[in-house]
Amino acid sequence: MCDNQCMSECLEFQGWEVEERWFCGQDLYLRLVPLDSKASCCGVCGTVVTWRKGCLPERSVRHLSQWHRITYVVFSQRRFLCKKCRKVVTEHLDWIRPYRRHTVMFEQLCASLCDRIAVTDVALHMKIDKMALYEIDAAWIGHRNDDHRVSLFGIRYIGIDEIMVRREEAKALVKIPVPIKRDKNKRGAKRRTRKRKFSRKWVWVVRPRFATIIYDLETGRILAIEEGRSCKVASRLLRSLGKEVLGKIEAVCMDMAACYKKAVKRVLPKVPIVFDRFHVKGYVNEAVEEVRKLAQATADTEDRKFIFNQRWLLLKTDPEEHDKWRLENLFELNKDLALAYQLKDQFDSIFTHDNKNTAEKQLNLYISYCRRSRLEPFRKLAGRLTKWKPYMLNYFDHPITNGMVEGMNNVVKRVLYRGFGYKNMNYFFGKVRVATGDLLTMVELGVTIAENKYQKAS
Ligand SMILES: [Zn+2]
Repeated sequence: MCDNQCMSECLEFQGWEVEERWFCGQDLYLRLVPLDSKASCCGVCGTVVTWRKGCLPERSVRHLSQWHRITYVVFSQRRFLCKKCRKVVTEHLDWIRPYRRHTVMFEQLCASLCDRIAVTDVALHMKIDKMALYEIDAAWIGHRNDDHRVSLFGIRYIGIDEIMVRREEAKALVKIPVPIKRDKNKRGAKRRTRKRKFSRKWVWVVRPRFATIIYDLETGRILAIEEGRSCKVASRLLRSLGKEVLGKIEAVCMDMAACYKKAVKRVLPKVPIVFDRFHVKGYVNEAVEEVRKLAQATADTEDRKFIFNQRWLLLKTDPEEHDKWRLENLFELNKDLALAYQLKDQFDSIFTHDNKNTAEKQLNLYISYCRRSRLEPFRKLAGRLTKWKPYMLNYFDHPITNGMVEGMNNVVKRVLYRGFGYKNMNYFFGKVRVATGDLLTMVELGVTIAENKYQKAS
């Protein structure tokens, strides 16, 4: 009997005790009986009830494994007449949620493992069905989300970015060129130039789907996340932050996506937009790469290989001493490459200025250099830079970049890979919030049944 008492205390069945235990195959079964000393509460309103009205049929639910045996507890819940609800109700139990087949402690353990490990692995380890585990994990993420009151106080800088969350098959209308029939009789005759004909056909294509994320740039916290990559989604996310928060935002950082720019202009018309300088640098690198490809295509076989091998050297920000002779060789081969490299270096020097006016002068100078360079990729870049100039120069008023955002995107991707993609996007966003520290993990939350925190959770 002493064993049973010890077990009752350890297993935290509040108000219940282990009366009997037996093995069925490898599994351990514990029969629980209610203690008379503990008053019962109504499962609906929570008031103390005394008027007994029979009980529900006996059922067994899964509990934490004891001595490496899968453990079930067998009990029957009592029914009472509640004066407040004016009906017969089932009593409230702290250690199991209504209509569940697992005790709260078991669910908590599963949910805390799911925070760090893939759900399929946890399912194998805990010997529980995968879908049941998904449901448990989703429910506990939901509880944490309900409890979570994000303090949006003091947000000054926000960053908007997109991330690919899944690929889906979709039907698309595709143009297919009609093969040109050659008339054998007219062979050798002057072929007329005619417009190529296309037929249209519905085919299945794989399309990437994106999600839009808004970050607090100073803390790296996720403020809002939703599936979709459009002006509508971005505006909705921004508005979800609330007027008070939006009023205190000083600048928004983003890549050059037109839809996000439009959304910010619509919701926050007075807030300056800062284009992430590293994204702009990406376009400069792209131009250098195009010049290199052109040089490679026109070079001799031997030189072509050399130019191909040095492609990363051209994009390097700080070439080391031993790299320099290779660069010199490269520039001797092709003068265009030397010019492209020089233009790439000059772009970096714009952002070394502290003053906005001198930076603007420098940028104007740079754009004119690009125009006069006779390199087609850089002339194209000049056009883009002219368009982006005001947003790039905002950097000197608000020196923010999306560097942290890209780092946090890696965390999001890690969650995505761990689960091999997600069908339920709300669940995925919950997992992301846990992984990025926006929601507490189960371990940090440290809920026990004694705290009775989620007794009304259903
Ligand atoms: Zn009641």
